Amino acid sequence: MLINSKPVRIFMGMCIECGIYFEEEEGVRHVCDECGEVQPESGSWAVEEMELVSQMESNEKYSEAADVLLQLYREATDHEYSDWPFAGKINDHLEALCVKHELVDQHIALLVFQIMIAQFQSGGGYSHSEELERAIQISTDAGREDLLHHLKNSNWTDLIP
Ligand SMILES: [Zn+2]
Repeated sequence: MLINSKPVRIFMGMCIECGIYFEEEEGVRHVCDECGEVQPESGSWAVEEMELVSQMESNEKYSEAADVLLQLYREATDHEYSDWPFAGKINDHLEALCVKHELVDQHIALLVFQIMIAQFQSGGGYSHSEELERAIQISTDAGREDLLHHLKNSNWTDLIP
């Protein structure tokens, strides 16, 4: 299905009341088919943190802002309490911030998160990826032997703050 010629991503959410799974849609407050509970709006749990991020960016504290975004990404992609539409937004925001201000550590941590999510979703059978290649390229360009060492030995969890 195509809307505005962009592929529609389908993500699964879990009812906060009864735990049944449903398809999450961006900008839609889902009502549970099973128990009728209205689900929280995507990103509504992180409004204060996002204001903090804006303030930090205004004050040119880019690295600190990226740290907060990474923590939000971790929470938004938690396999139990996932908020995938919000995770997608955080991902785009954080990636742009990292590229613009050359925040190598946070950029690598974000890519490592993506690798770990893909591994989890595929039941652990996922080892080589575009994300890994990008992470290696970014670390190489930045001359970060320490990061490369972890990436090449798959010591990925060490790279997550
Ligand atoms: Zn429910």
